Amino acid sequence: MLQSIFRKKSPQSAKTPIRSAVPSITQDTGVQHELLRRNQGWADQVVVQQPTIFEECAKGQQPKILWIGCADSRVPPEQIVSCAPGDIFVHRNIANVCIFSDLNSLSVVQYAVEVLKVEEIIVCGHYGCGGVKAAMGNQSYGMIDNWLSNIKSVYHKLEQSEQENLMVELNVANSVNVLCQTPILQNAWAQGQPITVHGWSYSFENGRIYDLNIQIASPNDIEKTDEYRYDLNKFVY
Ligand SMILES: [Zn+2]
Repeated sequence: MLQSIFRKKSPQSAKTPIRSAVPSITQDTGVQHELLRRNQGWADQVVVQQPTIFEECAKGQQPKILWIGCADSRVPPEQIVSCAPGDIFVHRNIANVCIFSDLNSLSVVQYAVEVLKVEEIIVCGHYGCGGVKAAMGNQSYGMIDNWLSNIKSVYHKLEQSEQENLMVELNVANSVNVLCQTPILQNAWAQGQPITVHGWSYSFENGRIYDLNIQIASPNDIEKTDEYRYDLNKFVY
């Protein structure tokens, strides 16, 4: 049963926010200059740790993981799972939404599945997601309202008083469900290509990723996604 593991494993609140070890960007240094300086420092550091990494990246990529996450600046995929360039193929949008009409995300998924042959697809939401919060309210944000309407459709049965964390998890479950029903995944599974789709959620409060226990590895498993959603609705009520 999918339930709010966030609440079950309520983490300790961080006493101080995690900040970059390098000086913050200021008006004095200029953003462009500062970022280029940081890039040089990063490249120098990485090549010390992995001398051949850029040589390998220049040859091409063979990532085994597709990550679909939120565009939120506090959830940088490679950093929170400590991966190197070349390890993860990434798609990010507001509130990690997967829908059948979004050619951008579908193109990423198609390339990842059919060309790169990724073996794991991770849909990772995060608690405190601004996109999910916005979708739960009635305030207008302009053009983005169209995108948020995709989340509102998930929200149809939840009361405002329900935990936003549950909505975050339900949104992840829904994205996994949609993803697994695309012809891309269906065809890949039909051809025997091993791919597992996972549902995760990240917490700002402790930097930990929580596995929502959503693992879909075949068309037969998609029914389980419906069960997750059904169980979640029961949990909500
Ligand atoms: Zn978000």
